[in-house]
Amino acid sequence: MPVQGLHIDLVRAPQQLETVLKHWPLDRVLSLGIIDGRNIWRADLAKALSVIEVATATRGRETIQIAPSCSLIHSPVDLESETKIDAELKSWLAYAKQKLGEVSALKTAVTQCRGAASQAFSESASAVASRSSSKRINNTSVKNRAAAVTENDLNRGAPFAERRTRQQACLALPAFPTTTIGSFPQTESVRKARAAFKRGEIDVNTYDAFLKSATQDAVRKQEELGIDVLVHGEFERNDMVEYFGEQLDGFAFTQNGWVQSYGSRYVKPPIIFGDVARPNPMTVTWSSYAQSLTQKPMKGMLTGPVTILQWSFVRDDQPRAETCRQIALAIRDEVTDLENAGIPIIQIDEPALREGVPLKRAERETYLNWAVDCFRLAAAGAGPDTQIHTHMCYCEFNDIMPSIAALDADVISIETSRSDMELLESFSDFKYPNEIGPGVYDIHSPRCPCVEDMSKLLAKAGQRLAPDQIWVNPDCGLKTRTWDEVVPALRNMVAAAQRARTTKVSAT
Ligand code: GLN
Ligand code: ZN
Repeated sequence: MPVQGLHIDLVRAPQQLETVLKHWPLDRVLSLGIIDGRNIWRADLAKALSVIEVATATRGRETIQIAPSCSLIHSPVDLESETKIDAELKSWLAYAKQKLGEVSALKTAVTQCRGAASQAFSESASAVASRSSSKRINNTSVKNRAAAVTENDLNRGAPFAERRTRQQACLALPAFPTTTIGSFPQTESVRKARAAFKRGEIDVNTYDAFLKSATQDAVRKQEELGIDVLVHGEFERNDMVEYFGEQLDGFAFTQNGWVQSYGSRYVKPPIIFGDVARPNPMTVTWSSYAQSLTQKPMKGMLTGPVTILQWSFVRDDQPRAETCRQIALAIRDEVTDLENAGIPIIQIDEPALREGVPLKRAERETYLNWAVDCFRLAAAGAGPDTQIHTHMCYCEFNDIMPSIAALDADVISIETSRSDMELLESFSDFKYPNEIGPGVYDIHSPRCPCVEDMSKLLAKAGQRLAPDQIWVNPDCGLKTRTWDEVVPALRNMVAAAQRARTTKVSAT
């Protein structure tokens, strides 16, 4: 191609250096993307320098450039703005500004000598050394437990057909059961109370009483609406990953670690720096409280291991699969505790499972295998009477159907209202055996769907799925909506389910 230079990402694909060195013309620029632009870890400068030296040994220095692996859009701006991270953890990190310092230290080392950048090199070496031996990072019992996981730990006690019969007997749900995806409106008052609690303006008892009344209100509203499987509403949660990260060992939080999510939306992902352990139950108090308020089944609400991994800055000193397995074990313990507390249905959300699929075909299978295994490890501690749900929004299922089926969730709820049930084709073509809640209410729109709209969608679903496979639910959580929008929409949704029960949507 008529280009003067080529940039390569040597963090994501270090193996390409050999080929590029062999073939890239000597008179053109070669830019070595050697500092990880997608993460927040301080680089191992000695290691980076040795890679650069392979290139300079082959083609001299003249045409070599040194750079971050990719655009720094995925990296927060300046580590110096973090005043609350402790000195040890901070010494392991580099944000965009620090990464540029690393690039320039490498240049100094290449063009002058390593001694000319000795401070940067020695700080980097001590960060590498302290990360590999720190007690905060290495938890032997977690490592041992993860290493001892067997195939058996990934399997529910009974096949789906048997679980289904047993769950039907325990839950006694009607045909076309209705439920929601978890969160209810995070109103102004919910956000205000959380902010006041964080600032220390209200004490824990006041905040707790507030959350209890919000939960009571949500349970009462769901009962009045006639929903079959209730949720507690997630009022105590700020964010579906942060809420769990804050209660797990091995996670840290930043003040300014903002990165772009999409458009003008920014997120502040947690940092997973060490082995992940769950010192205490994380959700049992709220789920049990909500269950104590009603005779209807309460659905426990967890974020899945793959989503927690995907939406965090992940440690780079062990394979992502390993970190994910540790998170899965923590979630597995939570499933067991919820079950022991009498919660009959548990949803493990995995909206990020699809987005983790690598672009390169050759890497896909490996990812899907460990991602599915981690979900199964998280879920399979549940007995056959406990119904496991999962939820994925905005997901292209076509090319990953075998993996979706391998999750072996008793029920999966998905986005289908915007796409007019098109996504269900993947499920019907695949003859997906378990139950499905194809979203009939587009929660991203303020518009209230009428009974007719939702009945039509259910009829379409009925053409693709067996009637006894179908659940009736919105697309996603309702936290961004108002109660004024949610109540009438859910009332119509319940009416559409009742209509489907009487008209018996047929499978043909
Ligand atoms: N349970 C979560 C909620 O309802 C799921 C959110 C999501 O899918 N992104 O908010
Ligand atoms: Zn969702």
